[in-house]
Amino acid sequence: EAKASGSGHTVTFTDALGTEARNRMALERELREAIRDKQFLLFYQPIFALTEDQRLMGYEALIRWQHPTRGLLDPGAFIDAAEQSGLIVFIGDWVLRQGCTALASLHKRMVNKTPGCELPFVSINIAPQQFLQPSFAQQVQRVLIETGVPSDCLRLEVTEGVAIIDADRTRQVLEEIRAWGVRTSLDDFGTGYSSLSYLQNLPFDTLKIDRSFVASIEDPKSRNIIRAILDLANNLNLSVVAEGIESPEQGRVLVEMGCEFGQGFHLGVPLDEKSAFALIDQRRAA
Ligand code: C2E
Ligand code: MG
Ligand code: MG
Ligand code: MG
Repeated sequence: EAKASGSGHTVTFTDALGTEARNRMALERELREAIRDKQFLLFYQPIFALTEDQRLMGYEALIRWQHPTRGLLDPGAFIDAAEQSGLIVFIGDWVLRQGCTALASLHKRMVNKTPGCELPFVSINIAPQQFLQPSFAQQVQRVLIETGVPSDCLRLEVTEGVAIIDADRTRQVLEEIRAWGVRTSLDDFGTGYSSLSYLQNLPFDTLKIDRSFVASIEDPKSRNIIRAILDLANNLNLSVVAEGIESPEQGRVLVEMGCEFGQGFHLGVPLDEKSAFALIDQRRAA
């Protein structure tokens, strides 16, 4: 058919585009069904103090999709589509509520067992579109009230993408939620544009060092960059979480450089709610 048309490339190209558009539409329809049928779940990856006792401080909530035919999907398979279709706003709303609901019940169990114990936090990834919704701050407040999670046990992670879209609005929202005691993290720091003016103008509590720097930590250049980030954070009074610690050696180097907190497959993989939350009982009992 390509030959008959005399412009094979055009025909093939058009077909490919058509296929891609159809796939995207199918995925979007499936995402709508997933929201309706509650096919999402949260995994939790522990975040530790990089000290001798490796205290479990809290968890990052990471979304998974229990797809009816394709199995358990990582966000890489659907987050882009969710963002481009706007469905991320609904999905993100569910994540925030679910993460806080789960944390509240963990807190309750812990307090029953050990009154006055130090409570872990949950850190929730917020897409730019969700963060910039006019009702976002209100929604956070509502979830805190409804679940009873202490505001200082909720952390919200955003990437600089949100500041690129609207820095002024980002600052307003950060200020509003921080006024209630909610903590804020700048995720994947060091990648993308990483304008230092974001750090100057936006009230974050924590920097999360992108895992690409940790992965290449044997390279002196990467170590220099990590050292610079730690210095910067120290001067700006920000705490630092290193992401993607996959080996004891990477952990050791980070400890030596004075990095306070970390997460990664070496310390703890993302787990379903039950397994992740059982960890804290084991750890604190030990
Ligand atoms: P992120 O926020 O930077 O989350 C960390 C990602 O690194 C997670 O991938 C986690 O499983 C992975 N990871 C943790 N430790 C290691 C390690 O030692 N080595 C390696 N190679 N990877 C590690 P995951 O769960 O596939 O999530 C990918 C991204 O999807 C997240 O990156 C975040 O940007 C986004 N995401 C996840 N959950 C949500 C959500 O609920 N809402 C939104 N808007 N985005 C989400
Ligand atoms: Mg993954
Ligand atoms: Mg994150
Ligand atoms: Mg990250």
